[in-house]
Amino acid sequence: MTKLQTLMNNLPQGMDGALILSQTNRQYYTGMRSTAGVLLVTRQEAYFLVDFRYYEAACKQVTDCSVVLQEKLYPQLQELMGRHNLHRVGVEDAYLTLAEFAGLEKNLPVELVHDGTLSRLIFDQRMVKTPDEVAQIKRAQEYTDRAFLHILDYIRPGRTEREIALELEFFARRLGADWTSFNFIVVAGENGSQPHGVPGNRPVKDGDFVTMDFGVRCSGYCSDMTRTVAVGAPSEKQRQVYDLVLKAHLESMAAVKPGIPCEEIDAVARNIITQGGYGEHFGHALGHGVGLEIHEEPRFGMGSKTLCAPGQVVTIEPGIYLPGEFGVRIENMVLVTPEGHEDLTKSTRDLLVL
Ligand code: ZN
Ligand code: ZN
Repeated sequence: MTKLQTLMNNLPQGMDGALILSQTNRQYYTGMRSTAGVLLVTRQEAYFLVDFRYYEAACKQVTDCSVVLQEKLYPQLQELMGRHNLHRVGVEDAYLTLAEFAGLEKNLPVELVHDGTLSRLIFDQRMVKTPDEVAQIKRAQEYTDRAFLHILDYIRPGRTEREIALELEFFARRLGADWTSFNFIVVAGENGSQPHGVPGNRPVKDGDFVTMDFGVRCSGYCSDMTRTVAVGAPSEKQRQVYDLVLKAHLESMAAVKPGIPCEEIDAVARNIITQGGYGEHFGHALGHGVGLEIHEEPRFGMGSKTLCAPGQVVTIEPGIYLPGEFGVRIENMVLVTPEGHEDLTKSTRDLLVL
């Protein structure tokens, strides 16, 4: 069954149609990336309305529903809604702006259902990846692993954070990646204490830890990985903090298997870091789901009751951040499998001294 058929078959009760307007969800169900377009879903049929710019490509690529050339959107939607006798149509409250909602409400002859049920249904579906989606994520991660190997020869004292970030991106995209999952994070020395620091003109110096958080997309699907490497001999404290993060990473990953609440896996890592004396310096969740969006369900932190289930792709990324000194984060992506998990990241996690 296609992803779209799954949605059509599972439309919530009290909803006889759905309007998919967000770029991410349109791509999820049609397989095509476009900056505009509307997917109208009923229990029997689905229509992808796209304008002239995308129409030719959509006719070739989109096979799971009827492709309609969008000319006058609202009259066309009114006609289709009338043809299928739609009265209550769900919208994606998680993505829609108030202005978009007001436009729909003014122009469509149906009741728009925005109580969260449609978004919940879609997030739950997107959380469990199909084999095709996993294949794209694996390809994206393969490029990411290869870019990491390449950058090890590139990093040396005098290179700036920005230069390293650009080199990673060019290399991965030359391999075949479509584009990046997010703006790469490359932070050196004391900048490493900022988990989401922006690469700047700071040159790498002897004795620095350099943290690189990067990933690319294949057919829209993201990879995500972080490594921290030492340039020149690390201090005793740097080694000790690295070893603690690595222990938290390995032991929390070992706990990943179906049926375990996400918060319990977060707690494995958090307890190790807290017992090591750095609890207050691990200020973010253990990880997150990855798919068409770099951060998606399941949330993978404190308070997340979501159970691990086969098909989820999540990151494991504990870190310790010491303001004014340095930071360490180690991030892999894992696929939850019926037996446990499969590590999708192949790069070494040993502390590399360049
Ligand atoms: Zn990351
Ligand atoms: Zn991440």
